[in-house]
Amino acid sequence: MIELIGAEKTYPGGVRALRGVDLKVEAGELVAIVGPSGSGKSTMLHLIGTLDRPSAGTVRIAGHDVAELDDNGLSELRARHIGFVFQSFHLSDGLSALDNVADGLLYAGVRRSERTERAAVALRRVGLGHRLDHRPNQLSGGEKQRVAVARAVVGEPVLLLADEPTGNLDSISGAEVLSILRELNGSGTTVAIITHDTEVAVAAPRRIRLRDGRIE
Ligand code: ADP
Repeated sequence: MIELIGAEKTYPGGVRALRGVDLKVEAGELVAIVGPSGSGKSTMLHLIGTLDRPSAGTVRIAGHDVAELDDNGLSELRARHIGFVFQSFHLSDGLSALDNVADGLLYAGVRRSERTERAAVALRRVGLGHRLDHRPNQLSGGEKQRVAVARAVVGEPVLLLADEPTGNLDSISGAEVLSILRELNGSGTTVAIITHDTEVAVAAPRRIRLRDGRIE
């Protein structure tokens, strides 16, 4: 599902955020990406999510070599195969939970009525069947993150990437979100989670530890 070979990332200005990373994650794995602040975790997740390209080395995601795809090809790869969850939820304030999740299918070529139906199913799956019409400001942090998870998985991606998904949550809401991510993994989705949260890190069968742009 994920293969990095000698992946390097140097930012303009010369910061070497990744220094030759080799990594293989098989389909169906749940991995936690851990390491101190500045060690390259977000950079690695960006490469895995094909949001950015490596400065050198190879990145292969779901069988596709990122170097062989143009920007449209990468957008399509993301739309079809990858879901994202962020620490700060990234929901649209003016939209209901249902519409926020339905928007996760905007680029998948699904018509509106089906987008709405599938969004409702995804929200029920994360335990929010009773919150379809609520706007983000009417939801708790944990509920917002569950909406974000529903949006990330409504297109049934094979790969789910989460950057500190429990970072803004109290421990009970964090545990709920973690349990949803584990459930998704149990049904076959490959999941990679950047985390400082020990509960999340110990729950993952595999931890990938970064330090100074290298895997330890
Ligand atoms: P982490 O997620 O582990 O905190 P990052 O991948 O965000 O680490 O950052 C790794 C290094 O790259 C840090 O030194 C950071 O300052 C630098 N960095 C991250 N993003 C950029 C950017 N867009 N431009 C320049 N430097 C960056």
